[in-house]
Amino acid sequence: MRFFVYSIPMQLTPLNGMDYDQLLALCNAAGVSTAHADSLRAAIFRYYSTDIAAIADLPLRLRSYLREHTTLLEPACTATSEAADGTQKLLLRMADGKEVETVLIPGNGRLTQCISTQVGCAVGCTFCLTATAGLTRNLSTAEMVAEVMAGQRISERQVRNLVLMGMGEPLHNYDAMAQFVRIATDPKGMAFSPNRVTLSTSGLVPAMQRMIRDELPCNLAVSLNATTDAVRDSIMPINRKYPIALLLDTVRDYISVRGNKRVLIEYVLLAGINDTTADAERLCALLAGMGCTVNLLPFNTYPGLPFDRPADTAVSAFRAILVEAGIIAVVRESKGRDIAAACGQLKTEVMQRRKAGLQA
Ligand code: SF4
Repeated sequence: MRFFVYSIPMQLTPLNGMDYDQLLALCNAAGVSTAHADSLRAAIFRYYSTDIAAIADLPLRLRSYLREHTTLLEPACTATSEAADGTQKLLLRMADGKEVETVLIPGNGRLTQCISTQVGCAVGCTFCLTATAGLTRNLSTAEMVAEVMAGQRISERQVRNLVLMGMGEPLHNYDAMAQFVRIATDPKGMAFSPNRVTLSTSGLVPAMQRMIRDELPCNLAVSLNATTDAVRDSIMPINRKYPIALLLDTVRDYISVRGNKRVLIEYVLLAGINDTTADAERLCALLAGMGCTVNLLPFNTYPGLPFDRPADTAVSAFRAILVEAGIIAVVRESKGRDIAAACGQLKTEVMQRRKAGLQA
């Protein structure tokens, strides 16, 4: 009998997707004291090191083990744009060539970074450009951490808030996203306050219930965008599975379990679709007694998407009805409107330029 020996390329595990327990296990595997896991955690998540060999306070034995078995993901930044208001958008290319956007948004003296959790998205909201290409794949925890590293590298100011509102539905990628949130809020790692990390969902009820059970350390935002099931069915197909009443019952459960956590309700205003006086009154009734904050987002018009931005007077009138009913409602202009900062727009424009043979 003949035996063939195949050389299998070894998969290097990304260090920037590992939690503290996994770093302890690495130290054990390398045969060094687990005390070095603290320095390793600080190097990866506090100082965003990109070169394992240069982490001077680790023993040589650990560094050579890490070089042999692990890697640090560092996506290439393939396009950037900066708006007049200081919003910066980055297009990041992952190791397999897939690209996602991340956005740095200045405001109130703080820098917020919007994180993508998937390449594309399967939810299919009809007002969203990311939805037009469908889902390509989930991002790994390490790729989400690498987005923060890339944002921090390009910005002179420290990122203080994270919002999981970029490309993708975070709850469709639950395990990787939850590990990312835990790493991001580890006080000895990236050290974001759980109050400064917000996950936005289109309303995946079972995964929201899992979030409650898991006590995921972050805030919740729900993209509601309609006050009747008929309208929500037509702009957010996920509503056919998890209609408004079920979704808002789950939000109530979340609020009662999480105590005084305020949930953010996001409402994209689409002219003639969901911006009438009757919509505003129904929204008041739906949210009565919930203690939610409502973010009103006038639609960011884009060629190819069949929606219009409501007139400013309609936006003000809609907000006034909510405020009158005692609901905190804030109109949020899409930051960086001059660089197409809404989800999926930079990627779409770069792809169009590449197709036309122009430089990205
Ligand atoms: S709005 Fe969010 S959930 Fe809806 S398709 Fe776009 S990325 Fe997906």
